[in-house]
Amino acid sequence: DVSRQYISDSIRTVPDFPKKGIMFHDVTTLLLDPKAFQLSVDDFAARYKDKKIDIVAGFEARGFIFGAPLALQLKCAFVPLRKPGKLPGETIGASYKLEYGEDRIEMHAGAITEGQRVLLLDDLIATGGTLAAGIKLMKQVKAEIVECACVIELPDLKGAKKLDGLPLYVQVQKE
Ligand code: IMP
Repeated sequence: DVSRQYISDSIRTVPDFPKKGIMFHDVTTLLLDPKAFQLSVDDFAARYKDKKIDIVAGFEARGFIFGAPLALQLKCAFVPLRKPGKLPGETIGASYKLEYGEDRIEMHAGAITEGQRVLLLDDLIATGGTLAAGIKLMKQVKAEIVECACVIELPDLKGAKKLDGLPLYVQVQKE
């Protein structure tokens, strides 16, 4: 539809970043256009307003940008899922494999507790490894994941299949 197309057109594609052969989808151009940013956040808000979300959990760093205004619209909490060593309190985490090596996300212990209804949010799903780690983390604390949501999906990478059968909602798809 018109607003999805508008959102999509506002995202710049930068070839060969961060390395040769990779097409980087850059949401900073979406953020420069308040209409596009508002359309994106409003679209998420409309989808989740009646879903009794307790917590929007956003992935560092671009998941914070979309997640925080969404949490305010939903009048719910926002929990940052961070790279290791960033959070000052006691943390729990989940590791995931990258092409070379491993990465990890962490959140404060006690930030999300059993039975809370969580929306996992990021700017983009590629291989699905990041969201899968978020799912692992939510399962550790026995939270209820309502859905995973991203602005952008790269469907060729089949990340949606890594989400343990959980639903994925995306606003735009790119190659
Ligand atoms: P995945 O774990 O392979 O699904 O990669 C998704 C993560 O990498 C997200 O946190 C994204 O922010 C980041 N990412 C991967 N590719 C891109 C891109 O083209 N643009 C922006 N972020 C990307």
